[in-house]
Amino acid sequence: MNVATAPRIAVFGSVNMDLVAYVATAPGSGQTVTGTEFRQVPGGKGANQAIAAARAGGDVTFLGAVGDDAFGTQLRSTLVESGIEVSGLRTEAGASGVAHIVVEGDGSNSIIVIPGANGRVATVGEHDVQRIAGSAALLLQLELPLPAVTAAARAGREVGVPTVLTPAPVQELPDELLDEVDLMVANQHEAAAIAGGSDPLRALDSLLERVPEVVITLGADGAVHGRRGADPVRVPARPVAAVDTTAAGDTFCGALAVARAEGQPAEAALRFASEAAALSVQRHGASLSMPERAEIDNARK
Ligand code: ADP
Repeated sequence: MNVATAPRIAVFGSVNMDLVAYVATAPGSGQTVTGTEFRQVPGGKGANQAIAAARAGGDVTFLGAVGDDAFGTQLRSTLVESGIEVSGLRTEAGASGVAHIVVEGDGSNSIIVIPGANGRVATVGEHDVQRIAGSAALLLQLELPLPAVTAAARAGREVGVPTVLTPAPVQELPDELLDEVDLMVANQHEAAAIAGGSDPLRALDSLLERVPEVVITLGADGAVHGRRGADPVRVPARPVAAVDTTAAGDTFCGALAVARAEGQPAEAALRFASEAAALSVQRHGASLSMPERAEIDNARK
């Protein structure tokens, strides 16, 4: 893809070192089990979406914080090596964020996040706002403190940049945040929790009362897109052998943001994002598994 035409995507979010244990079945309380493999992989929902967007063809700037420890140095290098602009990545005294991830034999995962430096991001500064201005989209998640995410969304609105929110980890969302969000990309569990019901498709209507456009991802069942006043559009997932679904949603969201910033219509953008995510679940490791643009385009031929 021609770099000169790559859409600019700003990501204000978390960056963690993922410590990933692979095991047939996760241990219960008080149990010790022997795993099959251990990997240390850069992650965090913010960094994952940033890397996914960069691989999918975006010109990405990352805003957030690492600690002044060895993980912080590695995390910064990873973003730089992914071609991501990091002048808005601060180094805070103390530990970097860490995620403790267990991946089971069927590809499902469970995660404990210890926020570290991410938890010390209090708001957006003038420098952040300058980096957001002129972007085609601002991607937000909820692994930074809520006041900081809300301030970023407000800043995005003020400089006319569409804001995309992934509401994870799921929590109660104040109107002062959602009023500034243009598109919500939630998985079915997040959507159901926020909408207060168990049916993800009914959740679409309910979420559309709070934000003008919503995408709900449905795992192996694909994704559904809704916009106020328009019929929902459903896109199936490609049937693949999933080995690790960590960050499938982040891969989807990063790719979706690029496709939309390129002006692809809603359904085409959804198909592009689905293909990126289907490629990622067939490989191990969150950021390691994300496909390059050429792979996504080839898989869609
Ligand atoms: P999250 O990773 O946030 O839990 P999902 O599980 O809904 O989100 O997955 C996000 C997207 O990744 C789905 O919409 C789909 O496109 C793709 N995906 C996830 N799991 C699979 C799978 N087993 N096979 C194919 N695609 C998948």
